[in-house]
Amino acid sequence: MRLLYFFIISAGIVSCCPGKQIVQTATPTAETGLVSGGKLFTAFYQQQAAEYKALCFQAYNLAALRLSEELKKTSPLPRAVVTDIDETMLDNSPYAVHQALQGKGYDLQSWMEWTAMGACDTLAGALSFFKYAASNSVEIFYISNREEGEREGTLKNLQRYGFPFADNEHLILRESESSKESRRQRVAATHNIVLYLGDNLPDFHSYYDKKPMEEREKVTVGFAAEFGKRFIVLPNPNYGDWESSLYNYRHQITKEEMDKKIREILKNY
Ligand SMILES: [Mg+2]
Repeated sequence: MRLLYFFIISAGIVSCCPGKQIVQTATPTAETGLVSGGKLFTAFYQQQAAEYKALCFQAYNLAALRLSEELKKTSPLPRAVVTDIDETMLDNSPYAVHQALQGKGYDLQSWMEWTAMGACDTLAGALSFFKYAASNSVEIFYISNREEGEREGTLKNLQRYGFPFADNEHLILRESESSKESRRQRVAATHNIVLYLGDNLPDFHSYYDKKPMEEREKVTVGFAAEFGKRFIVLPNPNYGDWESSLYNYRHQITKEEMDKKIREILKNY
């Protein structure tokens, strides 16, 4: 934890070389709280850790392997892959940094300003996997909880990199509920969904929808054999239901309360 705070306090201004004392200087905007600081630290991991890239490649390599196995079978319906967008194929870590440096977390207005730019980078391995799927006549359905108002920026972002099936028919955004189940069912009515990709467990099954932490863990043990098979999980250390479930999915919660809850749940000795 001390190390984490060190990086947070000195984010972006660390000078360190062997044998020399590390000088810590805090900028006026540096956030030292556990939540905001944690967001900076995990964004640093997303942006700079080769290990993060390697995990993304690993997930997409596995997805390609599973898809190649599926292609050997007969399929009663056209095949499809269902994928989430954020932190599954597009990288929003610059947004996390932008907010954390102002001591803020997610809010819809600033988020929509960010997504309207269509400026997200792609995750390692994503584009080549989706192109591989498309080249084998496998349709891609992008099921995301981005809002309808984000459609134009999202399509612009996907088309900028040449992601296949980046059109209105295949981009299925948030409707009346955050659960993706009814949207998955609609795709399943006309397609054989061979793979699901996501960074958040509700991207895979409704059993995870707004569930408490303990139940998420139980469901995951039950699905153990599906991960790396039908369910391909991308790493997201920055946000997700793993975090929201700790706060019982409450939107109105202060950073101090969030910090307190995290400290209460951490194992220590
Ligand atoms: Mg996501």
